[in-house]
Amino acid sequence: MTELGLRYQAIVDRIATAATSHNRAVDDLTVVVVTKNNPHQLVLDLLNLGSRDFGENRDQEAAPKAKQIALESDKSFNWHFIGQLQTNKVKSVLEYAHFLHSLDRSSLLDELKKRTIDREVPLRVFVQVNLTDDPERGGVAASDLMAFSERVLDSPGLELVGLMGVGGLAVAPEGEFEKLAILSQEIQKLAPSAAGLSMGMSGDFETAIAYGATHLRIGTAITGNRPN
Ligand SMILES: *Cc1c(COP(=O)(O)O)cnc(C)c1O
Repeated sequence: MTELGLRYQAIVDRIATAATSHNRAVDDLTVVVVTKNNPHQLVLDLLNLGSRDFGENRDQEAAPKAKQIALESDKSFNWHFIGQLQTNKVKSVLEYAHFLHSLDRSSLLDELKKRTIDREVPLRVFVQVNLTDDPERGGVAASDLMAFSERVLDSPGLELVGLMGVGGLAVAPEGEFEKLAILSQEIQKLAPSAAGLSMGMSGDFETAIAYGATHLRIGTAITGNRPN
């Protein structure tokens, strides 16, 4: 097997082990392989290994990559946009993305709502929550989350999947994962189907599984170091 195949299989195995030890069903976990800064060939290789969900964080890179892969592969899979999205890039991202993990502010919601109004298949979105007291960190503040989520639910072209969090670099992930899981319970009172939790990356996905993650965004642990 290739090195990529071995790394991919090792992560799949670790996810299965973590799921078992936390009484989670593996089928409830989606591995979004973060392919940013890697060539489109890596995505083709991962498709051959069986992965069907890929994450990108910059439209300038993702749009041409998505186009090229559509030309070279007829497999069906999901693109997840996971990075901060400028409103002037929404139109482009909507052409290929199936999921947006980083719905983080009102101006972006306004633009998305306007541009998805006639969509047949809604764009599936996670609301990104700012789990810190630092407004610079991006994401909707916990205190605004209910009102913001109601506005998402009121957008016919958007489907609220759940919540997304990016752990702080300086803190242990457990506290933030737990906060997000508690907020998720609140959101589910409003929208029972919005039970998704996008949290956990290469360094902490097993902990995220313990706290109820449904979508793991895993880059380097699978792809190896990013070329840059
Ligand atoms: C790059 C990135 C990831 C993946 O990080 P790794 O440490 O490589 O697993 C996850 N989420 C977001 C938002 C990212 O930008």
